[in-house]
Amino acid sequence: MMHATEWARLRRKVQRIHAILLDTYGEPRWTKLDGVSELVATILSQNTNDSNRDLAYARLRARFPTWEAVRDADPQAVIEAIRPAGLANQKGPRIQNALRRITEERSRLSLDFLAEMPLEEARAWLLSINGVGMKTASIILLFCYDKPAFPVDTHVHRVTGRLGIRPPTMNADQTHLHMERLCPPGAHGALHLNLIRLGREVCRARTPLCAQCPLRRLCPYPQQSKQREVEQARAL
Ligand code: SF4
Repeated sequence: MMHATEWARLRRKVQRIHAILLDTYGEPRWTKLDGVSELVATILSQNTNDSNRDLAYARLRARFPTWEAVRDADPQAVIEAIRPAGLANQKGPRIQNALRRITEERSRLSLDFLAEMPLEEARAWLLSINGVGMKTASIILLFCYDKPAFPVDTHVHRVTGRLGIRPPTMNADQTHLHMERLCPPGAHGALHLNLIRLGREVCRARTPLCAQCPLRRLCPYPQQSKQREVEQARAL
């Protein structure tokens, strides 16, 4: 359990990070999809890049006129349509199972009922679908239903760790709830997207470009890596 003073310090730091990223990258924009479309797109995006996901999504939409048609289709036809996203043999059945589950529970193929639910209840409902994890649930809740959820992908997890705004041992699933509470109200979508952009362009996995990072004055990582280099040199 984090002490209240430490929590307040982290909140101020996240507020500054958000402000600097807004100055650097501006207010990000995103296309708002309905919940079912976002669910399908997010399942397609697992373990692949955006362009493969987009291609698979476009092929699926071109092949089937409605999500009901995807749900009721021959599984092999769905697998063929989404092939560019990779892991099609897993993702096809996962998508169809999710579509069937929503229909069984709600009598129609829509997730719009989530808008009326409190965040925790809506998250629990989504997590009860096979193949839906914290990241997928958070993306749907944040981007389709304006809930203050905070999706954590590999970039967000890495960058928040280097910036020291989460405990070093905290895993990605735990970081969702941690960042959700730390993030300034109303900033969840913008901060999430700007942290991903920073992670892709500057705070890269292997070679972070710390010298040109807009957050370098707030970040302990460059100092820590110098320290590690000195210690390694001493150990030789
Ligand atoms: S200073 Fe370096 S480690 Fe820290 S956020 Fe920027 S690029 Fe990442």
